[in-house]
Amino acid sequence: MDLSLNEDERRFALEVRSWLEANVEPAPESQDPAEQVAWGRAWQRKLAEAGWVGIDWPVAYGGRGASPLQVAIFNAEYARSGAPQLVNRVGINLAGPTLLAHGTPEQCRRWLPRIADTEDIWCQLFSEPGAGSDLAGLRTGAQRVEGGWHVNGQKVWTSYAQFARYGLCLARSDPDSTGSRGLSLLVVPMDSPGITIRPLVQMTGEAEFNEVFLDTVFVPDGHLVGEAGQGWAVASTTLAHERGTNFPFKEEVVHEGYLSRLFAEAARRGMLDEPDVADGLVDAYVALLVLRTHNWRTLSKLARGGHPGPESSWVKLTWSDMTQRLSETALEVLGPGAPLWGTWARQWLWSKSASVAGGTSEIQRTIIGERILGLPRQQSHQRR
Ligand SMILES: Cc1cc2nc3c(=O)[nH]c(=O)nc-3n(C[C@H](O)[C@H](O)[C@H](O)COP(=O)(O)OP(=O)(O)OC[C@H]3O[C@@H](n4cnc5c(N)ncnc54)[C@H](O)[C@@H]3O)c2cc1C
Repeated sequence: MDLSLNEDERRFALEVRSWLEANVEPAPESQDPAEQVAWGRAWQRKLAEAGWVGIDWPVAYGGRGASPLQVAIFNAEYARSGAPQLVNRVGINLAGPTLLAHGTPEQCRRWLPRIADTEDIWCQLFSEPGAGSDLAGLRTGAQRVEGGWHVNGQKVWTSYAQFARYGLCLARSDPDSTGSRGLSLLVVPMDSPGITIRPLVQMTGEAEFNEVFLDTVFVPDGHLVGEAGQGWAVASTTLAHERGTNFPFKEEVVHEGYLSRLFAEAARRGMLDEPDVADGLVDAYVALLVLRTHNWRTLSKLARGGHPGPESSWVKLTWSDMTQRLSETALEVLGPGAPLWGTWARQWLWSKSASVAGGTSEIQRTIIGERILGLPRQQSHQRR
């Protein structure tokens, strides 16, 4: 694939850049999630009104039918502008592609425009206390009742559940099944009777994710995505997009910025000759180039009409190693006080979660070994 931009694509990049230059505002300093979400909603709505959210979605569902290359251009320009990440990113990056791939036209018409303008924030109800890496071991049950389903169980680590209108919930609809068979993907209205949400405070001091308890929660028939019993295939689409499409394009540019700022800081302090600092900077730079190459491969696959597959695990693994290496190097440069204050403190703390969120690095390595390199399968259930 030719990755140089043609005249139309250059014009598109300029259009995105000038809109962002005229409209991006700094996010509020507040660490209060409710304030951040209220601000994030207003910002995303402004983007949506200008047609800059879900740009690859069909026009009929509120998108502009943009090509994969235009999406990559948009993500890079967005990151370069310093604009904050979208508040409804689970809706945009996970629920949107899942609904487009497996939902009915009626579901897409009903939900996608409201995801774009943040009328409905979405969350992902996959992980459970006993089913994270071993996702197919989940126990939340969906029992058939008249007009829909009754869902019972517990989910955990659910980002933004406390603000969400809907949750993409993977549940066992066949009680006699084991592993990845007999699962269904249901869209759970988060204000339903029977739902209890308890925020969990993480080490950044924020409570972004939650425990979610579901006690005989009614989910109507029209909220089943894909076929009953085929939830694993639907969830696999969600996970492939979570790891490999929108976010790594943005992260590539964000980390270019981090790396050049850190390089300048190390030079200013006369530390470029220190072996640990030099190694850390070079490792992060090489990882960044590897991430870029993975992104180009994803792009050429999408541009040929393909879908993200197990190679998303490689993208995610490269990104998590890179962000952790860079954050560790920042601490070498800035000294022992760095984890406690300043711009790198939060980034360093967040980088710890990179090798866990969206599936751990061990699991990504296993997927790469089994599904890309063709090594013998590990003797256990299907994994995240
Ligand atoms: C910031 C953040 C946000 C998140 N948001 C969400 C969300 O919105 N929705 C959601 O559903 N989930 C979310 N998660 C959960 C995340 O997907 C899980 O934490 C992850 O899949 C790991 O599951 P676990 O925590 O149960 O760890 P476990 O599966 O218990 O793993 C514990 C350790 O054992 C290792 N391990 C387990 N099995 C194997 C194996 N077979 N081979 C080798 N090593 C193994 C793991 O790699 C890990 O090091 C989030 C997590 C984080 C950190």
